[in-house]
Amino acid sequence: MDISGTTKLIGILGHPVAHTISPQMHNAAFKAMGLDICYIPLEVHPDALKDAIAGIKAMGFLGANITIPHKVEAAKLMDRLEGIAAITGAVNTIVNESGSLIGHNTDGVGFIRSLEETVDIDFQAAEPMIIGAGGAARSIAVALAEKHVKRVTILNRTRERSETLTVLLAKAFPDLPVEILTFEDDLKGPILSSNLVINATSLGLKSNLKMPPVPVDRLTKDHVVCDIVYTQTQETKFLTAARGKGATTLGGLGMLLHQGAAAIQLWTGVEPPIDVMRGAIESKRTDNPADSQKAAADWRDPGNEGSH
Ligand code: NAP
Repeated sequence: MDISGTTKLIGILGHPVAHTISPQMHNAAFKAMGLDICYIPLEVHPDALKDAIAGIKAMGFLGANITIPHKVEAAKLMDRLEGIAAITGAVNTIVNESGSLIGHNTDGVGFIRSLEETVDIDFQAAEPMIIGAGGAARSIAVALAEKHVKRVTILNRTRERSETLTVLLAKAFPDLPVEILTFEDDLKGPILSSNLVINATSLGLKSNLKMPPVPVDRLTKDHVVCDIVYTQTQETKFLTAARGKGATTLGGLGMLLHQGAAAIQLWTGVEPPIDVMRGAIESKRTDNPADSQKAAADWRDPGNEGSH
């Protein structure tokens, strides 16, 4: 990459940030687009977030991505919030518009695009169960509500967090039926009647040994099961179990890809080359050939495509 005095910068602010594959994905896109932009990882401790965000303005960054654990705090530091970020109060993309920081959230649209490219889904007939009520779950819930899903079930360990999400949804989508459940409830009926089950908790990350405590034996070939957790080399245990029951499965890499593409569109106004970005993720993931076979399952399961 040629970095010169005119190169524009975009950073990803997180803690930790060392694991991110976003720089490979974004820099490949900028290169293919012929843009003089460089995307860099920036390790930012929560205590330093305010200064770091001020630095985006001070140093004339084109913008930034925000990742764990800063999405909610960063939203409070924006000059303006737009779209899903305004509804959820969580930001994953910042655009520096001539010194004004505009906060967006592309996680929800990333999830929807990933789902759409994998399954033929009728959103108005969808009855999603979202497992989790954190930042990502919020964005997904709002994006699904914008698609006019029939109803939403939120299943989370901490009920208060589900209630917060329910209040956000009720404000923006007063007609949407929302049910709250915790893992202590009998989940057999609810999981059977939800045709789209989404793990938006962080369970399954890193060790890949943990999975959300839901009755996976109730899943069938009529379910679409998504896990937004992505590991570079393996499918999550939750997806393996769901696929074993015949469900159509979808890992988190498609969401990563499409939330990134939506962010590039916000920064540059130009649609990025999706295939180049997908290729950059793929090549990063197949650095270790021993893991590449397992990795393939987490990207998109061709055997499952289009079956819903
Ligand atoms: P977050 O705001 O910290 O929320 C974490 C969620 O996980 C909460 O619902 C939390 O429940 C639940 N959780 C954590 N540990 C748990 C446990 N031991 N048992 C039960 N529930 C537990 O995080 P986030 O930003 O929403 O991210 C969630 C996951 O999505 C992360 O793995 C992240 O990497 C992934 N993600 C992927 C993409 C993508 O592009 N594929 C984009 C965004 C995020 P409580 O409310 O009870 O604490």
